[in-house]
Amino acid sequence: MKIFISTDFEGVAGIVDWDQIMVGSHNYELGRRLLLGEVNAAIDGALQAGADTFLVNDSHSSMRNLEPDRLHGKASLLTGKHKPMYMMEGLDKSFDAIFFLGYHGSIGASRAILSHSYNPRAIWEARLNGEVVGETALNALVAAHFGVPIALVTGDQVTAREACRLSPSPHCIEVKHGVSRYAAESLHPEVARERIQEGAQLAVDSLALVGAPNYSGDIELSVTFLTADMAEMSAWLHDVELSGKDTRTVRFVSSQPLEVFRTFITMVMLTRALVE
Ligand SMILES: [Zn+2]
Repeated sequence: MKIFISTDFEGVAGIVDWDQIMVGSHNYELGRRLLLGEVNAAIDGALQAGADTFLVNDSHSSMRNLEPDRLHGKASLLTGKHKPMYMMEGLDKSFDAIFFLGYHGSIGASRAILSHSYNPRAIWEARLNGEVVGETALNALVAAHFGVPIALVTGDQVTAREACRLSPSPHCIEVKHGVSRYAAESLHPEVARERIQEGAQLAVDSLALVGAPNYSGDIELSVTFLTADMAEMSAWLHDVELSGKDTRTVRFVSSQPLEVFRTFITMVMLTRALVE
């Protein structure tokens, strides 16, 4: 049984500040230790439930946050920048389940630790079929394309709430409760790891009950940027158009979840050129 693990960082117990999660920052070594502990705990739990093959896609910022020699010995590690499928690189239909670990709430969500939706310096809001979404739902488009269920999501209470809106909803583990964007009450890291291990085991045990995310019909992606020129630049892309509602929003419609995701990622890459 094969598990695909996409790891972010903001949703790990004890993490409340960029200073803990960016390469070269003061508390980065502590942060990456906390992340690693949660990833290895999830793998342990899934192993207990019979999973035997793991691919971990390190998806945060530099995408070199997990130390290869300290990662669980059963896992392969996909690391480094410039992945065409970004946080979902490496997934294909051979996998049986997906874990999203250390995830966070969408930009704009209240009391969501270090909230953002891909690029906080470009993206003000993203919507799918009119509903405000974060990285969990955007990445779920790729899960839908390959027909792989999202079994487990970990992060703060907002991450869990947003993940519950997925259909079907995954098993969620809350390792902390945000009281603002930069403050949270966290479980002790050891307790967080225990809960994640149990959660991963349960998630894999109950896999038969969870299907892959499912979309029928057209999917409308709408993205509002911080500035009008970011929206205009995104509208250079094929079939992406300015919404007409305001100067900062573009829309794209397709019945293919992967096409929607790839268009979104291309907007993220393209508008980086305009980020100051
Ligand atoms: Zn993120």
